[in-house]
Amino acid sequence: MQTSSNILIDMAPGTLALIAVVCVLLVMLCASVMRYRRLRLSSDEDRDNNRELIENLSEGIYRSTLDGRQLRANRALVQLNGYSSLSEMLSGVTDIAMEWYVDPARREEFRRLLHRDGSVVDFISEIYRHKTRERIWITESARIVRDKRTGKPMFYEGSVREITETVKRLKLEEHYKKLINQIPGGLFQYKRDTSGKFTITYLSRGFHRLTGIPEDQPLSDVKMFTRLIAEEDRESYDNSLRECFRTHTGWDHEFRIRTVDGVEKWVRATAEPERVADGVIWHGYTSDISIRKRQEIEIRQLAYFDPLTRLPNRRMLLDRLALTLPKCRAHGRRGALLFIDLDNFKTLNDTQGHDVGDAYLVQVAKRLKSCVRADDLVARIGGDEFVVVIEDAGVDEATASARAITIAGQVLTELGSVFEVGAIQHQASASVGVVLYDGTEARVDEILKRADIAMYKAKGAGRNAMAIFDPAAMLRESERYAMLTDLRAALVQDQFQLHFQPQMDRAGRVCGAEALVRWYHPEKGIIAPDQFIPLAEQSGLINELGKLVLAKGIAALCEWQADAAMSDIRLSINVSVKSFGSADFLPHIEGLIGGIDPTKLTLEFTEHVMADNHADTACRMHRLKRLGVSFSLDDFGTGYSSLACLRQLPFDEVKIDGSFVADIETKESDRALVRTILAMAETLGLVAVAEHVENERQEAFLKSFGCDLYQGYLYSPAVPAPAFLELARKTNGAFRTIDAGEQRQSA
Ligand code: C2E
Ligand code: CA
Ligand code: CA
Repeated sequence: MQTSSNILIDMAPGTLALIAVVCVLLVMLCASVMRYRRLRLSSDEDRDNNRELIENLSEGIYRSTLDGRQLRANRALVQLNGYSSLSEMLSGVTDIAMEWYVDPARREEFRRLLHRDGSVVDFISEIYRHKTRERIWITESARIVRDKRTGKPMFYEGSVREITETVKRLKLEEHYKKLINQIPGGLFQYKRDTSGKFTITYLSRGFHRLTGIPEDQPLSDVKMFTRLIAEEDRESYDNSLRECFRTHTGWDHEFRIRTVDGVEKWVRATAEPERVADGVIWHGYTSDISIRKRQEIEIRQLAYFDPLTRLPNRRMLLDRLALTLPKCRAHGRRGALLFIDLDNFKTLNDTQGHDVGDAYLVQVAKRLKSCVRADDLVARIGGDEFVVVIEDAGVDEATASARAITIAGQVLTELGSVFEVGAIQHQASASVGVVLYDGTEARVDEILKRADIAMYKAKGAGRNAMAIFDPAAMLRESERYAMLTDLRAALVQDQFQLHFQPQMDRAGRVCGAEALVRWYHPEKGIIAPDQFIPLAEQSGLINELGKLVLAKGIAALCEWQADAAMSDIRLSINVSVKSFGSADFLPHIEGLIGGIDPTKLTLEFTEHVMADNHADTACRMHRLKRLGVSFSLDDFGTGYSSLACLRQLPFDEVKIDGSFVADIETKESDRALVRTILAMAETLGLVAVAEHVENERQEAFLKSFGCDLYQGYLYSPAVPAPAFLELARKTNGAFRTIDAGEQRQSA
């Protein structure tokens, strides 16, 4: 039997080779088939994986025909279209262009781009959610799938993503942006991190408009805004912000900026803080408040400034002083206030007209400002009254007063040199009152009042002068003021009474009396006239007081004349020349003397207060003299115009001033003077009265010189009416007894 090997051996060698080739081919084929199967298996797996991947993508994926029919779509797209399954969708969609796009022209545009470029990326359209017809926004990207061989377009394939929310948000943002642009002010946002570093996170267009900061300016430049803040407001700006950061409360601040284009604006900034993890975000708004501020400034200008000179007015002055006093006190510094009154301004105004007056005042303001530093205050507080405040004049009184006097001197020089006012040249002067203060003063108007007092002193000293306030004068002034108030009340309540001082003849009889007024003050007791007559004269109350005295005196005289023992007694009443000159004096006295014998009435005028207008005084005196009233010139010899008075005015009597009488014993010169007066009185036919006769030696001298009447403590001080009556009756009664005895003896 032949084994297989034998058979092989038996075969021809060509056949063997053939078999071998076939075998190799078979093996290779098997391997290929195996590989192919493996490959197929793996590509099926890949496809499944891809499909799954696509199916689960959140983006919609599709394939559609060129004429708009959906062929395939993943789940996301099915859902985007409002369907629950692909088959439902595929059966629903027939024409994408017509059914899908809100604006069908969008589909055309999409296709145009696709065919032009082969693909489209992020093409945004508004479409209908196919099933529900709800309008939504999508972005889609797509490509054309072509036949590989012919290159002919076969399908569109692409992806779709819904962006409705994003579009809504963008639209809303745009909407807000438009609104924000309409806001007149500027919105801003900045962040302050925990290390205190600032970053600007947002500025609206309005902010750029308001500030002039260019819109392309990088936000990182935080100083772009702060450098616009006006120099003078920077400190308060910083302080207000710091305070807000500290307290974490809202910010609200007004300040000035100079815009990038150089325009000055007032702005108001408000902001609210919001705490975030790494700091605080401030959301704020800035608005232009220039118009309101300008109005406020204008109103302030009207309320606090003099419209003519533009200087601060009285109110502003008092406000400023009120602010400086505590500062003075705190820093131990002294200030000075100069009260300046223009001399003769009224005359300029009256003669040259108000325009010239105004122009002069404006120049005065300018010159005053030139005398002081910029931070000192110059104010106009009245028609022709100005005030200069030197807020810091020095630490001690000496330095402060030296500085104040220097400035007051400059003021006098400035205001004393010629002014060119319009067409005229005006040479004027001023009176300056200076007061120093140290902040301990209780009231600001007190300081002003003191300076005013000093100014009056300067004016009294002949104008074009300065005077420093003297505290003693202040005390007198305040006492004077209190007394004036009391005096007014006293007139209403009739607290005045007359005392009478007898006048003796050469024989020692009481032939008359001088009425001397006394003020019975409810608290201070009896006040002598020297203490209140000058005040009454200065304040004008003398007229009323004078009338009262006249009425009381004439009433007394009336009583005496009804009494046989007293009917010869004369009465002298002191009359202030001022009230004698007033219009109602003559009618008043004429009315009063109707009921008495006027020849027993003498009116005394004090020589040194005699008015210059002698002609008018003489005329009035003559009118009364015709009725029988006499006139006496009091305090004779003390004034400069004694003789002139006597020559020009129709006096009947002179009263030698008490000071000469006092020295008659000791001074030869006074003796000579008294003798001369008495001789002159005799020549002129005047009665001579000596007052202040206090002792017998004085009386003896006077008698030997030929004096007619005597008055003084030697006989009696001024006493109330009853005491005087008693004295007169007693003294004259004794004479009557002697006379009667003498008569009896001679009979
Ligand atoms: P006067 O008219 O020179 O009055 C004389 C003053 O000398 C009175 O002072 C009187 O009290 C005082 N006196 C009298 N005798 C002596 C004396 O021996 N020695 C001294 N040292 N003084 C004597 P009084 O009453 O205080 O009056 C002062 C001045 O007040 C008066 O001076 C007079 O100018 C004024 N006066 C008084 N009463 C009135 C009045 O009713 N009207 C006005 N206008 N002035 C009056
Ligand atoms: Ca008198
Ligand atoms: Ca007198």
